Amino acid sequence: MSRRDTLLHHATQRTPRYTSYPTAPHFHEGVDAAMLTGWLQALDPARPVSLYVHVPYCRSLCWYCGCNTRATTRAEPVAAYLEKLLAELDLLTARLPGRMQISHFAMGGGTPAILSPDQITRLMDAVRARFEFQPGAELSIEIDPRHFTRADADGLARTGFTRASTGVQSFDPAVQAAINRIQPWELAAIAFDRLREAGVSAINIDLLYGLPRQSTASARASAEAAADLMPDRLAVFGYAHVPHMMAHQRLIRDEDLPDARGRLDQADAMEDALTQAGYQAIGIDHYARPDDAMARALNTRTLKRNFQGYTTDPSDTLLGLGASAISALPQGYVQAHSDVRAWGQAVEAGRLPVRRGVAISDEDRIRRAVIEQLMTYFEADPAAIAAAHGLPAPQADLSALEQAGIVMREGARIRIAPGYRPLARLAAAAFDAYLTTGAARHSVSV
Ligand code: SF4
Repeated sequence: MSRRDTLLHHATQRTPRYTSYPTAPHFHEGVDAAMLTGWLQALDPARPVSLYVHVPYCRSLCWYCGCNTRATTRAEPVAAYLEKLLAELDLLTARLPGRMQISHFAMGGGTPAILSPDQITRLMDAVRARFEFQPGAELSIEIDPRHFTRADADGLARTGFTRASTGVQSFDPAVQAAINRIQPWELAAIAFDRLREAGVSAINIDLLYGLPRQSTASARASAEAAADLMPDRLAVFGYAHVPHMMAHQRLIRDEDLPDARGRLDQADAMEDALTQAGYQAIGIDHYARPDDAMARALNTRTLKRNFQGYTTDPSDTLLGLGASAISALPQGYVQAHSDVRAWGQAVEAGRLPVRRGVAISDEDRIRRAVIEQLMTYFEADPAAIAAAHGLPAPQADLSALEQAGIVMREGARIRIAPGYRPLARLAAAAFDAYLTTGAARHSVSV
């Protein structure tokens, strides 16, 4: 079988994206607010944490969206949400062992920049009153260029934001019409000019392949047009069509979607366009300018993977605020209620709004480290990772992937063969002890 046929044969297998391990479908309600309280109190106050704030509101709904968000054109729900966020911040910090340092701060959604400059100032003042930002800490936020004024950009700069991320997905007008996101290139260019002029100099762009009415030529042209905007980083994801889970995706017609071959061609064309434009490929779906911190972290082997994908964040603790936000603590993962009403009711009642989570065993830790190495560096030495923890190497059946030439062994080291890096999720899945349950809930691998 040719390399391309092998890629195609495996591309439609459903695997997690492994932004955590165990993955979110294995979170359960046995992890509750009392357990999270204990985990928070046990944190080492001398070690910095990351803080993530989720804002589940957008001005309109993009039909491809897989995020926990809802559309609103009214100011009241956003204002009410902010009040509860501030209350949750108090609930969280009351359970920490002291005033902690922040190494990374991120706001995602939804569209967190839907908060007005005054509202963002209020939130950031509250965070700064309770945490200490480390010198050089990264503060990032997702923006929507369709609703982004000069005052918004100035407000972000004034409150210390250093990086902005925007979902572009495609610059093709036909694709934009098919996903309900009309956003011409010029609009993105204006938003980026505003950010840079204000002093928010680091910019990320998200692109998608596998969208309705997207062709290989269109995908390549979008990647080239995105590179013309000179972002520091790009992420290129495959559109996950799961209309049984995301009702608004039913507005996307199945017959408009490319097949597996088309998706693969589009992913290849975008990678080619971005590497030709001078970007370094990072992991399975990121690209960075060679002088960007993410490229440097890859080269120095300090790059990690968390819920935001690849990260330069050195902290092993991520605290989440807001509906559906996930916290990653040394002891395990905890997710807040996704339903804004349930989340808000818990906060108003003075309870941490925990919906579910999972405690991590020693074996989980070993498997997570192996999976992270495979997803980030395309190689891992499971026996060495386990030995460092005084444990035996985790078992995994890689025989089919080895026979297909996707995985190679060099002594105890496992390596994803060159040319098969888009299939890293399959090798990672071989180390997933939970995968036999819930695999259908994941997206296709490429
Ligand atoms: S702006 Fe982003 S979060 Fe909001 S609906 Fe569109 S894709 Fe989803």
